[in-house]
Amino acid sequence: MSVTYIDTHAHLYLSEFDNDRDRVIDIAMHKGVKKILLPNIDSSSIGPMNNLASAYPGVCYPMIGLHPTSVKDGYREELNIVESELGKGHYIGVGEIGIDLYWDKQHLSEQCQAFSDQLDLSLRFNLPVIIHARESFNEILEILQGYRNKGLKGIFHAFTGTPEIAWQVIEMGFLLGIGGILTYKNSTLHEVVRETDLKNLVLETDSPYLAPVPFRGKRNESGYIPHIAEFIKQIKNIPLDEVAGITTRNVLELCSLNHD
Ligand SMILES: [Zn+2]
Repeated sequence: MSVTYIDTHAHLYLSEFDNDRDRVIDIAMHKGVKKILLPNIDSSSIGPMNNLASAYPGVCYPMIGLHPTSVKDGYREELNIVESELGKGHYIGVGEIGIDLYWDKQHLSEQCQAFSDQLDLSLRFNLPVIIHARESFNEILEILQGYRNKGLKGIFHAFTGTPEIAWQVIEMGFLLGIGGILTYKNSTLHEVVRETDLKNLVLETDSPYLAPVPFRGKRNESGYIPHIAEFIKQIKNIPLDEVAGITTRNVLELCSLNHD
């Protein structure tokens, strides 16, 4: 049986891939990355994202949400768009959403409001959420406390927290998205991966960002997913097909997708 993977987070619709998008997806599929989930950013990315998803049915899957760095004064209009898009029914998740205090501290209250409004949407449409947390674990965990036992589920994308935060997040019903950061020296993620169970982890690239070593600083691609899996294999000292099989199953269950 061949080893297959899912990239749970790739912005392959961005202009960074305009010259070789099909080739990038072809390479990924040849490396066993059979499905690629596309998180949205804001209203300007919905068109390109849906175009890509339509070109690769059964491979590229769109999600809809307003990214925290796109939460500005006019965010309510953006949220209306997210809500009406959700009504179309073809999205497999609400994302990416969250709070980012690295790029923007000015709109914290708007970011918190947009985050909880979109958590409500995910419950209403019964979809998983993709959470972006940057320098904002306290704010995010506080908001999530208000959603305990409501059936919220999803992925903490590009997880960077300590093992303690990892356990809190897992206990709330979330999976951890593991990508290129795992390959960076001094990353606390090694400890997180060692101490958590594979059933709590999924793989992601965040293409074109966060490329793994030795490609750090260059454009990231979904084809690097097996490279991330290899790191997890070595840290946990388990076979590669176990890493691939369990992380893939986690995504299929979370998003109610079929294997083929
Ligand atoms: Zn992203």
